[in-house]
Amino acid sequence: PLQEDVDLNMLANQTASFLENETRHRNIELKTDLDPELPLITTDANQLQQVILNLLENAIDAIDRDGEITLVTRTGRDGVVLNIADSGEGIARENLAKVFDPFFTTKPTGEGTGLGLSIVYSALSKLGGTIKVNSEPGQGTTFTIRLPFTGPQF
Ligand code: ADP
Ligand code: MG
Repeated sequence: PLQEDVDLNMLANQTASFLENETRHRNIELKTDLDPELPLITTDANQLQQVILNLLENAIDAIDRDGEITLVTRTGRDGVVLNIADSGEGIARENLAKVFDPFFTTKPTGEGTGLGLSIVYSALSKLGGTIKVNSEPGQGTTFTIRLPFTGPQF
């Protein structure tokens, strides 16, 4: 992956704005709570943008209509944290461990490939990051991404 100085707050705003039309149309409020002191991180901006886009698309699918998505950034001890929380349908307990598996989908045939989260998972691994999921069926889902201040050196 590329190594460039990336402002994750800017990337979060940019990616959210790509989806403005779709969220407005579905009455989904897209909120941000961004750490103003967030340091730049050395990573691959393009890969990270794909990751955020995949997670936001899943959040929109999970809500369908009327709800909210919040993007939160925080500075951690060894890196930055990005939370993407939605008020959607949530993930059944028995599916939580499967969502990162390639081809796992609960979407109707033709609507989901089940590849989004497996691509997200491997992209983040290459960037030296991690992703975790928490979900409450009927309440919503939060994905937590951690990225080191500086990515792996090759
Ligand atoms: P796809 O979106 O094509 O189904 P993904 O790999 O992106 O494939 O997601 C896999 C599955 O994980 C989805 O079908 C859905 O069941 C579940 N999932 C992912 N994100 C969310 C979310 N934000 N809320 C509820 N379920 C989710
Ligand atoms: Mg998806």
